[in-house]
Amino acid sequence: MWCESSDRLERRQVTRHLRSLLLLTVALVATVGIRCPAAWAWGVHNVITKAALEVVPEADHWKQLLGEGNWEGLINYSWLPDQRDEDLGSFYANDYLFIHEMPYHIGHVTLGAPNVRDAYAPYFRRALQALRTETPENACRQMGPLLHFVQDSGAPPHSLDSPYHGPMENWSSDRVLSIQGYQPRLLGQTDDSALAALTARMEEVIAFGAKTHERALPLVSAETPDRSLIEPILLEAGAECARITADLIYTLLTLGLADQPEGAVLEGRVTAPEFPLSNKHGARVALLNAPYATLATTDPNQPANEGWRGFFRFHHLPAGTYRVAVYRTAAQPRVYEDVTLTVGETKILDITLAPTNPAGNIVENPDGRFSYLQPNQPDRWRQTKGETGPAWTSQRVHLLEGHEYRCGAVLRDPEARVRFLFREVPSFKAIESVPDQVVTGGQEGLGEFTVKIDVKRAAVTLVVESAKPLTEAIERVWVVPVEAPQG
Ligand SMILES: [Zn+2]
Repeated sequence: MWCESSDRLERRQVTRHLRSLLLLTVALVATVGIRCPAAWAWGVHNVITKAALEVVPEADHWKQLLGEGNWEGLINYSWLPDQRDEDLGSFYANDYLFIHEMPYHIGHVTLGAPNVRDAYAPYFRRALQALRTETPENACRQMGPLLHFVQDSGAPPHSLDSPYHGPMENWSSDRVLSIQGYQPRLLGQTDDSALAALTARMEEVIAFGAKTHERALPLVSAETPDRSLIEPILLEAGAECARITADLIYTLLTLGLADQPEGAVLEGRVTAPEFPLSNKHGARVALLNAPYATLATTDPNQPANEGWRGFFRFHHLPAGTYRVAVYRTAAQPRVYEDVTLTVGETKILDITLAPTNPAGNIVENPDGRFSYLQPNQPDRWRQTKGETGPAWTSQRVHLLEGHEYRCGAVLRDPEARVRFLFREVPSFKAIESVPDQVVTGGQEGLGEFTVKIDVKRAAVTLVVESAKPLTEAIERVWVVPVEAPQG
């Protein structure tokens, strides 16, 4: 069936609500800085990717190189851009969405600027790099954003401001999608030629989606639309998306997993304090003076009650001397200078991260000092407008029902204020029992307070209102789970 599992459906609805309410929240707190997508996403990414995987040539070979689980994982990873800012348990969606060449969220339609066309080149090159230098798990996750954006481009209502956006992308969802018999083609023999072919091919895919919209429009806009007539038309756009997805997966794997000149290996063990209530998360490892980054993943044989342990591995790196930065939520970042790599050799680092102050702080980059993606731009914070002027807005911090959290801030700029905005997820409604809190700069002592979360899923976003760079506005901010719930 071309349908979403109930789980997936719930997530789609969740994402939609969240997105519409996020827009509202954005308006209410007057924060700007990212472009919100003008429309919802194509609703069937898993179905399209699955249909594509069924026809990719040499599947057994790729499964052997990547591992069956990672191959199957592509189906889920093709949702990643619709999961922006979400905590996915062992990683944040943003870990793979934010890359050097695309360090912010982007729209999913072909309207306006920047639009989804701007995503092809950076994510294509980043996916190839991941296949060439990272673990199969990281590489497959890193392919997800590109698959998603390519599929969104071909969604019938994504190239025009359609009054029938919802039906146009979801009314095909109970059909079987299969492109059996399609022979995927290699888009090019080199990165550049393949990217050029992809870019050209995408214009055909976009035109196909627009044409599908045109064909379906009279039927969809009828007084009592007959879905049995509409679905087969929309399904053709899904098939076109599956064909380009198959071409793309085949091309990425062929180019990305081809034999390479021998390079250097950098691997290591990371030991870090516990990330309270979410201790499966990986740790980010980035080379500060080169465009390489990856995620250390959790050691399956985790010692109980002893913080966290994970491993990372880069392979086929160019020889050179690198600065290696490591960061994990609830730990302080650490930079290793002068790590020299030699072709044919494996360098092993044993990395220990210190706890945050206060320990167990689940705010990402809580002092703004970790800056990898863009120079002088703290990772996971974005510049926005607050109620009184310029502000810095944090990545969402996920909170769980029944838990108490200690929240606070120490400010460096006496004019600064920190707003803690507590919201229900996915509705993004204010939580009745937990009003927004403000910590001001003039305050004596620690600006700290405790909240108890009594809704199923919640999040807090921190808005630091200050005209200064974040590191001059705050000493640190924190959200720390107090204790496990009783019973
Ligand atoms: Zn999308």
